[in-house]
Amino acid sequence: MEENYIRVGIFWAIPNREEGGWDFRILQKSCPASAAEQLANPVGFIDFPYSHYDAWDDARHDTEPEDCYFYPRGRILYDVKRKLHRVFADECLSVEDLQELIDDFNIEDMEICRDEHYVSAYTHSPRPTARPKLSYEILRGKDKIGENLIEISYGETKILVELGKALDGGEELSDLEREVLKKKYDAVVVSHYHADHAGLIEKKQDCPVYIGAGARRILEAMSEYRGKTLPQNIVTYKSGKFFRIGRMHITPFLCDHSAFDSYMLLFEAGGKRILYTGDFRFHGRKKPDALLERLPEKVDTLISEGTNLGSEKPCFSERELEERAVELFENTKGPVFILQSASNIDRLVSFYRAAKQCGRIFYEDLYTALLATAAGGSIPRPDEFEDVFAFTPRPVRGRQKDMLFEFEQKRGMKAIAKGRNFVMLVRPSMMGYLEKLYRSICPSDALLIYSMWSGYREKDDVKRFLEEAQSLGLEERTLHTSGHASAEDLARLKEHVFAEEYVTVHTKQ
Ligand SMILES: [Zn+2]
Ligand SMILES: [Zn+2]
Repeated sequence: MEENYIRVGIFWAIPNREEGGWDFRILQKSCPASAAEQLANPVGFIDFPYSHYDAWDDARHDTEPEDCYFYPRGRILYDVKRKLHRVFADECLSVEDLQELIDDFNIEDMEICRDEHYVSAYTHSPRPTARPKLSYEILRGKDKIGENLIEISYGETKILVELGKALDGGEELSDLEREVLKKKYDAVVVSHYHADHAGLIEKKQDCPVYIGAGARRILEAMSEYRGKTLPQNIVTYKSGKFFRIGRMHITPFLCDHSAFDSYMLLFEAGGKRILYTGDFRFHGRKKPDALLERLPEKVDTLISEGTNLGSEKPCFSERELEERAVELFENTKGPVFILQSASNIDRLVSFYRAAKQCGRIFYEDLYTALLATAAGGSIPRPDEFEDVFAFTPRPVRGRQKDMLFEFEQKRGMKAIAKGRNFVMLVRPSMMGYLEKLYRSICPSDALLIYSMWSGYREKDDVKRFLEEAQSLGLEERTLHTSGHASAEDLARLKEHVFAEEYVTVHTKQ
């Protein structure tokens, strides 16, 4: 050790396949011994100068494919009271292994400590201990679109992936749903807020439930609109930042889907990797290359959605949809009404952009306006965009009235009926409102755009809405592109992550 200097750092060991043993990678800092007392944390240690979690995270992105957390790792800190270095290391590094590290690190006074904090995902252990196996079980979702319930386990650690609600189940819970709600899990990890993935999220309050931060804000807005509060155990993860549940590492990767803030989820433990895609597509506004670059190039199991396998659903881009919308808007003199899902934020952007290009005002019903505001950023919403206004299809009281009045830009029917050059988002429950508005405008022509999955046409309320719109004389056109990957893009992902085992869920195939 250099005279009067203290070294601290983090390290990880990469197996040396040619010569055996380990190669150590070390990130270190040194500080003058004279400053030790001042630099020590309240417990009396000098640690790596910024959070070692962050340091590992940064290192991980710089060192792929030799992931610093995948292999055995640890950190070296300095105990000011006892005046010696302490090495906290993964159990699979023996004292002899660590001697090499200590030589590399150039310290003399050290003590090796074990800490269950550092348990690598790496299977090669000098000691023949039986290691658990990373495994999965698909409880539901193998032969249907959505409603995924998947268990992923490693030893004692058990995680439930998704908390979907049966789409045709109404309020009644199925036996399986009751069972997973009662069962003890270390955590639930959810890919996005669609009801077929997160519909039961508020009913599971006995463990942490993870979802993206943007998705949580949307769920919060949905709850508030219904006069409820989202449970505190719903916590958030960040794209590209791994987190630990028991001895499992989970890394979420932001992907494109018809729900805002959707993720693919990578589960790692015991040297094995399971990648679960959630719902995704490559033809949205987010470039697939950026995602592919971040995904591992080799996984043991790929659990992929397969919604569009064997179907001829249109998979053109949102940008192309926007162009087609511009054309439709330009060819219509009167108002354009759009029937789309309020939570399909990307679609909202496409229609808003088209409306802007055609100089049309954009009307969002209160519910959609609240979700758009929760999404924030560049999403069109009445509190930030001068050409976006909120409206309510029926008089609102109490809490919902307060929510509406928070929007500076809002318009009642009278003010809306003064113009014809607008785009308005509608939902099946708004037929009475639409009829009244339509009759007071009496447009020479007007258009209704159907922008959802064709299957929803069979739902009672949608069916009735479309029939009544037709009887009003509203011309209807379909303009929709799938929120799910095409068969070619599913193949592209499969090839990229080079999975040994391929399992499809969220499919009718
Ligand atoms: Zn789904
Ligand atoms: Zn979805």
